[in-house]
Amino acid sequence: MLMKNNIISELKKTLTPQNVLTEQAERYAYAQDAANLPRIKGLPDAVVFVENIEQVQSVVRLANKYKTPIICRGAGTNVVGACSTDHGGIVLNFSKMNKILEISPENMTARVQPGVIVGELQKEVEELGLYYPPDPSNLAVSTIGGSIAQSSGGARTFKYGSTKDYVIDLLVVTADGKLLRTGASTIKNATGYNLNTLFVGSEGTLGIVVEATLKLIPKPETVRVIMAYFDTVREAVETVNTIIEQKIYPSTLDFMDKNAIQTVERFYPAGLLCDKEAALIIEVDGVEQAVDVQQKVILDILEKCGASKIQYSHNEEEYHKIWTARRSSMGACAKLKPNVTTDDVIVPRKNLEALVLGIRKICAKYNLDVCMVGHVGDGSVHPQIPIDYSDKDEYRRFKLAKNEIYELTARLDGILSGEHGIGSVKREHIAKVVNTEALNCMRTIKKVFDPNNILNPYKIF
Ligand SMILES: Cc1cc2nc3c(=O)[nH]c(=O)nc-3n(C[C@H](O)[C@H](O)[C@H](O)COP(=O)(O)OP(=O)(O)OC[C@H]3O[C@@H](n4cnc5c(N)ncnc54)[C@H](O)[C@@H]3O)c2cc1C
Repeated sequence: MLMKNNIISELKKTLTPQNVLTEQAERYAYAQDAANLPRIKGLPDAVVFVENIEQVQSVVRLANKYKTPIICRGAGTNVVGACSTDHGGIVLNFSKMNKILEISPENMTARVQPGVIVGELQKEVEELGLYYPPDPSNLAVSTIGGSIAQSSGGARTFKYGSTKDYVIDLLVVTADGKLLRTGASTIKNATGYNLNTLFVGSEGTLGIVVEATLKLIPKPETVRVIMAYFDTVREAVETVNTIIEQKIYPSTLDFMDKNAIQTVERFYPAGLLCDKEAALIIEVDGVEQAVDVQQKVILDILEKCGASKIQYSHNEEEYHKIWTARRSSMGACAKLKPNVTTDDVIVPRKNLEALVLGIRKICAKYNLDVCMVGHVGDGSVHPQIPIDYSDKDEYRRFKLAKNEIYELTARLDGILSGEHGIGSVKREHIAKVVNTEALNCMRTIKKVFDPNNILNPYKIF
């Protein structure tokens, strides 16, 4: 207790008192994230708002001195408990470090603070004819720091890759308060180990990102989205493979199953066809003429593959209507029961059909509802399961189903997370897909960067 009081009074001296929250209600608000866990295991001791790199370094040095955990927080929208404060500690809130420091059209890079909102960066660069493709569905709120730490993806990963492909340089505060630069402002870098990739996806367990330089690309001249409906899930999945086999390269190849379509339409009506078993949302982009050609080829494939209804956007309003419907699926699903969970298992595309049908079967076996969406071009599926945690039997069935879904994913040569991360929620399952040698290697890396285990401890493994 004395130690806690000491650290809190030192924090208030280091930062301004209004940037240090210690009331129980305040600490409670920061104990959880969008993983929506059934039980809060521990409250943070304090929540601090940092405004510059020096403050981050001071707070980390204090945490190291008192061997207190530090849990970074962007918007708190990760869905794997990566921000949960089970072991107490200091929550480092980045909402006041939210400036775009530089956009360089010449270098095609952006230098940003970690609290910048992904969607806001996209808007700013697009005004200059540039493009930052990583697009987690909640890009209106999620931050660059959080998306780097989770290696976030999104619908456009199929064509453009995910966050890891756009990070060229980071400034990172290490566990002992030093400032580490991981890369350079250049587009290529073969100068020693690639430290960028080590920090991307590390979930705040190896270091704290205080600045990021991101690669940009030219903004595609035109985008068009096609929504195709199918009478069977099998036909929809087979169509994905056919499109890819034809060497067409859409920017997105997304999927919604009947439950997802019906649930979105019930809560956020968008004119979706509720009698269909599945839908694909296919976006093509590029110069106008190329988009016309791609659209025509895709429409031919869709017809041959048995699409029973095809809609496509003729203008921006229709384009946004389709994407808003797809992006609302988790919000809509959350209205079915008091709680909702999502996941992001991923398999090589040739095993996609087995994964989708297998997840449906497992959920039916345990009498659970499931709305399935996914970035199926990548082989990634998001089974969203509405649940009432106060129903103990439902929670027991849910846990059994999750275990079987992960076992199925492992059997299909897949991996537990394509873009959401592991956090505290999936750590007990990681050994199903990552071998002992690799896990030992990760533990060794963790010890090198964080010998006192203060950076987001007990996450990932
Ligand atoms: C409705 C919904 C839809 C979603 N759709 C997608 C999707 O399509 N694709 C996808 O990939 N994800 C998706 N997600 C997950 C979420 O968008 C990502 O995990 C996300 O980008 C997290 O950003 P955040 O700012 O909320 O980070 P937070 O949740 O606050 O933090 C995530 C992790 O980053 C760490 N962290 C935060 N800032 C820093 C920093 N500066 N330095 C070091 N570590 C840091 C935290 O400690 C934590 O471990 C979705 C989530 C929701 C709720």
